[in-house]
Amino acid sequence: MNLIFLGPPGVGKGTVAKLLLKDLAIPQISTGDLLREAVKENSPLGKEAKSYMDSGKLVPDNLVIDLIKKRISNEDCKKGFILDGFPRTIPQAESLEINNIKIDKVLNFIASKKTIIERLSGRRICKNCNAIYHIKNIPPKKEGVCDKCGGKLIQRDDDKPEAIERRLEVYKKQTEPLIEYYKKKGILVDIDTERPLPNILNDVLNAVK
Ligand code: AMP
Repeated sequence: MNLIFLGPPGVGKGTVAKLLLKDLAIPQISTGDLLREAVKENSPLGKEAKSYMDSGKLVPDNLVIDLIKKRISNEDCKKGFILDGFPRTIPQAESLEINNIKIDKVLNFIASKKTIIERLSGRRICKNCNAIYHIKNIPPKKEGVCDKCGGKLIQRDDDKPEAIERRLEVYKKQTEPLIEYYKKKGILVDIDTERPLPNILNDVLNAVK
């Protein structure tokens, strides 16, 4: 099963993907996580991507398309994968078709702008293992420390107020057209993320059955 998790930053795509890893038994591929790793390693890709990411802009298509193509060719993607945060532009979506990467379902995660801003501004991530927390909704057992690996929890630079507005604008302009793109293909399913988390997880499992 090849899935795309589509939706604005902060809507909960990554959180849901991580919670369903066992049930779905396919890897979550987050271009955001892969790019943050590249920045941490200071690789050539990381150096190029950093300034775009810090300011809340999209990294150029050719860079993320290469990254995804390489990642999907790994052995662990043979039975399927969840693309989380890719595609984010029409050319990125077209690149999947050009490379004969078939998508079975696109889950369109929906929340109000108020909810999204509240989720983004309270989000903390583990510097070490990328686990996702929220200071109110999903707090760690010990403040500032990851429950899973003991790593330090940090606020992403792009979750600070200046970058949040920019990212939501970028989403509207460059990513939202993908809703229509996949609706026309008949593979889009809406997921209402204003519901309690167990209901959201159920809705996702039902949508991909
Ligand atoms: P995310 O963790 O998905 O919110 O991504 C964090 C940042 O990484 C985004 O704001 C972009 O700068 C960059 N990024 C992640 N995925 C993509 C993508 N598919 N296309 C372009 N830039 C991306």
